Amino acid sequence: MKHYDCIIVGSGPSGLGSAFALLESFPDAKVLLIESAEISSGGLRNDCKMNFTFPVGFPYEYWTKESAAPYLEKTESFLKPIIYEKNNLEIYTRRAERIGVELLRIRQSHLGTDGGIKLIKQLTAQLESLGVELSFGETLQKADEKLHTVITTKREASYGSLIVAPGRHGFDFLRHFMADLDIPYQDNSIDVGIRVETKQEHYPIVADYYDPKFLFPEQTRTFCTNSGSAHVVQEKYTTSSGHDYYSVNGHAYSENLKPNGLVNFAMLRTVAFTQPIASGQDYAEHLGQLAMLTGGGHPIMQRVGDFRLGKRTTSEGLNDDLYDFTPTLKSATPGDISLAMPSKFLESIWKAMKRLDTIVPGVLHPSTIMYYPEIKLYANKPVFKNKWFMAADDIYLIGDGAGTSRGITGAWASGIRAAEGILIKLGKK
Ligand SMILES: Cc1cc2nc3c(=O)[nH]c(=O)nc-3n(C[C@H](O)[C@H](O)[C@H](O)COP(=O)(O)OP(=O)(O)OC[C@H]3O[C@@H](n4cnc5c(N)ncnc54)[C@H](O)[C@@H]3O)c2cc1C
Repeated sequence: MKHYDCIIVGSGPSGLGSAFALLESFPDAKVLLIESAEISSGGLRNDCKMNFTFPVGFPYEYWTKESAAPYLEKTESFLKPIIYEKNNLEIYTRRAERIGVELLRIRQSHLGTDGGIKLIKQLTAQLESLGVELSFGETLQKADEKLHTVITTKREASYGSLIVAPGRHGFDFLRHFMADLDIPYQDNSIDVGIRVETKQEHYPIVADYYDPKFLFPEQTRTFCTNSGSAHVVQEKYTTSSGHDYYSVNGHAYSENLKPNGLVNFAMLRTVAFTQPIASGQDYAEHLGQLAMLTGGGHPIMQRVGDFRLGKRTTSEGLNDDLYDFTPTLKSATPGDISLAMPSKFLESIWKAMKRLDTIVPGVLHPSTIMYYPEIKLYANKPVFKNKWFMAADDIYLIGDGAGTSRGITGAWASGIRAAEGILIKLGKK
């Protein structure tokens, strides 16, 4: 059986961040990085806007501004982003403050989906040149904590340290993985909301601030804004009982690639459950399935004009003179989101949308589309044994799947932090 100093599972930003950080102080380390997809996938592929200001992407449970600062700095100095300028924000900030809303000023860069793919290629080539064994199409199945071994779809191998970074799609895998190893975890909060799509002229703030972060009352916020060449997409998830559902999301290509004049962003509300709801994931899966039932197996889309009148959107009504742009997610079903969305989420989100329309007048134009559901399952929170995200003997769980991050930079920083824990344990730091 082959032995590795470290086996890393997942080629998203948290897995990549840990590999680079480990090799920086331990260049001779024998590292295996496995990825279940056939090509390096992970979230760097999707739009790739990177946020370099706390707390965006850094959950408060694991990070403070002070503790995140050195990791954010290292992440930035490694990725060398070109930070976007922000202009003319005073007016929006003033309007926001008057109605109890905060506009966060975030240092951001944006590569676009095409730019993200280039970056991944560059990073994986760099890892290979540093001697990392990369294996795509290989999935971790099990680990034995005592023997320090793993079984994957391709091999059995032993490790000194194991870093598991399976992302949001690995949520269910991680639940089983933790249950197998008796790692206690909590999974009690979720984000649920809509994706808004409108013409750029109805949300002109994006010309001055690529991804404006507004914080509204009731734990509601804007998230992941895309513009220029922006598209709404659907992502497939499978519930623990084997049923599929879709969550919507958004991305954009880099600036010069086929601009379509549209903007999309998420408006999400976070809810943390208490007894008797034990699992946010189970709850979210039910919501996802209800949305599929209501949308005939697809996400639902509704024009703001119809929502205001309390009527469903129909395919015939989608493209008249008032409704003058074509939805980019063509597979979504025109319908009525209020049939599928619990009022706790819908009311907060609609209130936030009205506030947003006061700050950036126009966003609630009748043609604006609201897609549902956008569900973020962040909270598979393991009980860690130390501050470097070690959850069992020499097993580190990081990234969006383990709830240590909520975005690319937080994920990369989580990878550096886990690597640091390993290096300290080995006396190399
Ligand atoms: C459409 C979309 C757009 C986004 N846009 C942005 C954005 O612009 N900016 C931003 O900051 N964040 C964005 N995000 C979020 C961002 O992608 C994540 O925060 C980030 O990728 C999390 O990194 P990670 O390493 O934890 O997981 P991931 O990037 O999801 O990587 C996990 C990897 O592990 C692999 N894997 C899972 N299970 C196994 C297993 N058992 N064995 C082997 N491999 C496994 C998966 O295939 C995957 O490649 C977006 C997400 C989506 C879906």
